[in-house]
Amino acid sequence: MTDPIELARSDAFARRHIGASADEQRRMLETIGYGSIDELMTAAIPEVIRWHGTLDLPAAATEAEAIAELRALAERNRPMVSMIGLGYHGTHTPAVIRRNVLESPAWYTAYTPYQPEISQGRLEALLNFQTVIADLTGLPVAGASLLDEATAAAEAMTLARRAGKAKSNVYVVDADTLPQTIAVLATRAEPLGIEVRVVDVERDELPSEFYGLHLQYPGASGAVRDHAALIAAAHERGALVAVAADLLALCLLREPGAIGADIAVGSAQRFGVPMGFGGPHAGYMSVRAGLERMLPGRLVGVSRDADGSAAYRLALQTREQHIRREKATSNICTAQVLLAVIASMYAVYHGPEGLRAIARRTHDVAARLAAGLTAGGVELAHGAFFDTLTAVVPGRADEVVAAAAGRGVNLRRIDVDRVGISCDETTTDEHLAAVWGAFDVTGVEAGSEVLPAGLGRTSDYLTNPVFSAHHSETAMLRYLRRLSDKDYALDRGMIPLGSCTMKLNATTEMEPITWSEFAELHPFAPAEQTEGYRQLVADLERWLAEVTGYDAVSLQPNAGSQGEFAGLLAIRSYHRDRGDDHRDVCLIPSSAHGTNAASAVMAGMRVVVVACDGDGNVDLVDLDRKIEQQRDRLAAIMVTYPSTHGVYETGIAELCAKVHDAGGQVYVDGANLNALLGFAKPGQFGADVSHLNLHKTFCIPHGGGGPGVGPVAVRSHLAPFLPGHPLHAEKGVGPVAAAPQGSAGILPIPWAYLRMMGPEGLAQATGVAVLSANYVAARLRDHYPVLYAGNKGLVAHECILDLRPITKASGVTVDDVAKRLIDYGFHAPTMSFPVAGTLMVEPTESEDLAELDRFCDAMIAIRGEIDRVAAGEWPAGDNPLANAPHTASMVTADDWPHPYPRSLAAYPGGGDRSAKYWPPVRRIDGAYGDRNLVCSCPSPAAYE
Ligand SMILES: *Cc1c(COP(=O)(O)O)cnc(C)c1O
Repeated sequence: MTDPIELARSDAFARRHIGASADEQRRMLETIGYGSIDELMTAAIPEVIRWHGTLDLPAAATEAEAIAELRALAERNRPMVSMIGLGYHGTHTPAVIRRNVLESPAWYTAYTPYQPEISQGRLEALLNFQTVIADLTGLPVAGASLLDEATAAAEAMTLARRAGKAKSNVYVVDADTLPQTIAVLATRAEPLGIEVRVVDVERDELPSEFYGLHLQYPGASGAVRDHAALIAAAHERGALVAVAADLLALCLLREPGAIGADIAVGSAQRFGVPMGFGGPHAGYMSVRAGLERMLPGRLVGVSRDADGSAAYRLALQTREQHIRREKATSNICTAQVLLAVIASMYAVYHGPEGLRAIARRTHDVAARLAAGLTAGGVELAHGAFFDTLTAVVPGRADEVVAAAAGRGVNLRRIDVDRVGISCDETTTDEHLAAVWGAFDVTGVEAGSEVLPAGLGRTSDYLTNPVFSAHHSETAMLRYLRRLSDKDYALDRGMIPLGSCTMKLNATTEMEPITWSEFAELHPFAPAEQTEGYRQLVADLERWLAEVTGYDAVSLQPNAGSQGEFAGLLAIRSYHRDRGDDHRDVCLIPSSAHGTNAASAVMAGMRVVVVACDGDGNVDLVDLDRKIEQQRDRLAAIMVTYPSTHGVYETGIAELCAKVHDAGGQVYVDGANLNALLGFAKPGQFGADVSHLNLHKTFCIPHGGGGPGVGPVAVRSHLAPFLPGHPLHAEKGVGPVAAAPQGSAGILPIPWAYLRMMGPEGLAQATGVAVLSANYVAARLRDHYPVLYAGNKGLVAHECILDLRPITKASGVTVDDVAKRLIDYGFHAPTMSFPVAGTLMVEPTESEDLAELDRFCDAMIAIRGEIDRVAAGEWPAGDNPLANAPHTASMVTADDWPHPYPRSLAAYPGGGDRSAKYWPPVRRIDGAYGDRNLVCSCPSPAAYE
């Protein structure tokens, strides 16, 4: 490899992506005592796993070349007018929201709001989202987004089982449910021993026993039915009821809460989020009172800060499923924050009247379409609908669908006799004329409302002032700016989060995702219209297989957690295929990420924990013992490599061999691939399957907590068991996401990254990531103990700073250090994962030396402050650490009773005072908010 960076071309993208210049890299190497990156990597990575080739990827393209190639791919997509429906609808993304949220790094480069003091803007936006969902569904508590409608429905299926009293394992699903939802429910039910029973609830009796009922409202066919009696009947049998509801329809229809639903789920896509060939979109869930502690995913709540002012933060965090590990009932971690923010802003911008008008127009256009069809003699399957019709055309469905396609409109072919047609806010007179033409009817001037009389909505929604205050574009622009100014994202400075790889999200990578040829395709559009996407997917699958050493890749999982689930399902299916049904034990080291254990439980496995030794490595003696105990039942081991301790464990090859010898499969969690690319391939050092996090290693921005893409990569023997899709190629096990290619709309980002880095650039990025982590470890080692190191005292791409002895001696906690870092202008490192009382730092390759030094200097200065607290110079309860972060309002107050100067409070560490980031609130009391749970917009009076 070229070492250090001296790429021939001055326009090489790698020089932009990698923060440290060649000269800075030399200085960092000098600090840690290595002559070259190659020498460093040879020392750090165990030779048994080291791969010495050059990646077989196309040579790096420049930014201009990559954009030209993406343009050419985009031109091979032919977005047509989509009237396919099935949970994906045309929508107008307001331009002010597209440019200032979706295309704004202040929003898309933010991290999950675990540090609430620097995340008030996106927390407010998410609280707005929760309020939209709670109001429209008529259920009091909504979460801050799930991955898509189908997985949200699956979460409801398991929530109902936990919450209900019924003994049965039968989950009844309305036959008029979206087909992809039924398929995902079946995938998720099987390993848990749940029986999904699809019932035509209109015609057939409910079974005598069942624990839960899933209804679609309106149905996939478009039918609007009054489900109240059915829900009451289910409740009589002790079953819980989940209603998958369309948010736009709920602007006109009675809300699920009012007809007795316990849970509502669905997608917020049509609230301004482009279809994107299937995603990403925000799935949602809301629940009735009493179920809020069982909600999967994250929940934003209102609490108060040290001054008693209202402040937002994530509520009930210990309930967060993935933190509960093997006791978890859901594995969701990364969700769809950016998309939830967009949907919430769509509601803020339109307000209740605007949304009602959009819903009414959508309904009116559908009613007119229906009137024209009926006038022309076409039979419709249902009299009552909101936006979707089912036309009955015996034997002529293919003909009609083809005729519509010839006029530029995609319809849904249900079967040979029936065609589905879905209207939305983008439907025009021309679209209606095209559909009428396809059916060979002339059409009409107007239709009449066909919503069933008893199902009209009578309750108000979105009455909170925030939904009425920002309807002019000026007001909206300023609201978005005001919120994003409260937050710290990568556009302000480094976010050194271990395990999360907060690297550059380059603008060139981001640009294509809002091009209409990528943004406006329906996931079930005919293949000949989506050639560009299919090529992009094929390229990406091939490249990801090459860099990981696997044989096959599925891009369907829409987060790392879902990739884990898909990978473990592949292992489960493989064993069953060989008659090894009894293999159900998954070994997981104690240091693993919480999603690992949660995913294993969802895949029907029993988790057996393997200990780590004093050096943080998987304890191979304990491994032997556990293998011996579980030999016949061993299904898999799930390990992260390099480990979550930030170390290249030398025992990995031996570990893989031991598990294979006992008949188990090896799952390597690929979240830390940023330490391996170009230097080692999991698929070649002994693993059978991995998931990757394209929102970590491959530059999809974190979005404040999603979107993500978590592809699953496998060796050939597991390839037959990758996720399939009922509306796509039927293969493998069932789908794990609603859309065949999951969050396809953001795949141009990793495509562009790989295309522009090329084989050398990728390896250099890995080298510089490892160099940067070792540089930080070297500079901080004398001030904070570095907890674990591997070969020759080196760490991998991240390092753990052990605060525990310092806390013991001084009383200063990791929390204090994290909050004090805000005063110094930093986002805190990962707190207390994987070891409580520590900080895990991952600088990534994208930070330059000046920023790395600014961080190290801040950490060293904070250590100095800790020493002054320990020495008794400042009281334990009143010092710069205990009071951090300091707001502008606090340091400009006329009264300053603290024993340290205001300048130290506000401007520690020197630097440019005019560049200061001011947190909007003081330290937040999380426990207070958990005791007084408020999860939707409080009335203005509550802030007084
Ligand atoms: C981030 C992460 C995951 C989970 O990925 P999500 O995309 O958040 O679901 C799993 N394992 C490790 C080690 C991780 O860092």
